[in-house]
Amino acid sequence: MAVDADILANLAAVRERVDAACMAAGRAPDEVGLLLATKTQPAARIAAAVAAGARLIGENRVQELAEKDAELTALADGRPFERHFIGHLQSNKVNQVLRYVSCVQSVDGVELADRLQRRLEALDRTLDVLVQVNTSGEASKYGAAPADAVAVVQEVARRDRLRVRGLMTIGLQSPDEAAVRASYRALRELRDHAADTVGAGLPVLSMGMSGDLEAAVAEGATLVRIGSAVFGARPRTP
Ligand SMILES: *Cc1c(COP(=O)(O)O)cnc(C)c1O
Repeated sequence: MAVDADILANLAAVRERVDAACMAAGRAPDEVGLLLATKTQPAARIAAAVAAGARLIGENRVQELAEKDAELTALADGRPFERHFIGHLQSNKVNQVLRYVSCVQSVDGVELADRLQRRLEALDRTLDVLVQVNTSGEASKYGAAPADAVAVVQEVARRDRLRVRGLMTIGLQSPDEAAVRASYRALRELRDHAADTVGAGLPVLSMGMSGDLEAAVAEGATLVRIGSAVFGARPRTP
């Protein structure tokens, strides 16, 4: 797979933004990782990003994971990459998703946790998960309500096949920077509360996208999820 000059330059520019945001926040740049959100991108574009140095890929739909898997694996040509699931996971897709991902970032309640636990028992394996929280309160967004988030983390932590590593949020989509930052601060505060409650470290805060990664890094993000800043604008999906 040849290196795509645009993807290489875009990845470098995003990494520079993350590094600058870390400096501004008095954080070490290596505290913040980059996940590429690759929904609607063909396997060849994702493989180009892997060739340019990307190592972590996030998909929103099980169908896309399945459709791109063989081609992506072939084009990656032995370069290592990992996939996380970052979309809404329907219970009937649990069996399938486990074939492709090392982490489900979108666990939003006990029912999904139970489904995953049962399937993982059958496969005799474990899975990293994040609990997704709907910090913006928008009805269109998935995730546990902030008021329920700590209890959901507690429930997930009781299931021995699930290793809860932290929290994820999509955050508020708004031009009001202070409000966006408040939604990310809310996730960090919930994480701190949940970590105290379950008595475990919850190191991962997956938050921040192309338009607002600086706000997320300022509030403690350890993983930003970037799509359009690397791949360009997506066609509008219905
Ligand atoms: C698409 C997507 C992103 C990335 O969004 P961009 O604005 O394109 O960077 C991050 N997280 C999730 C869950 C997404 O679906």
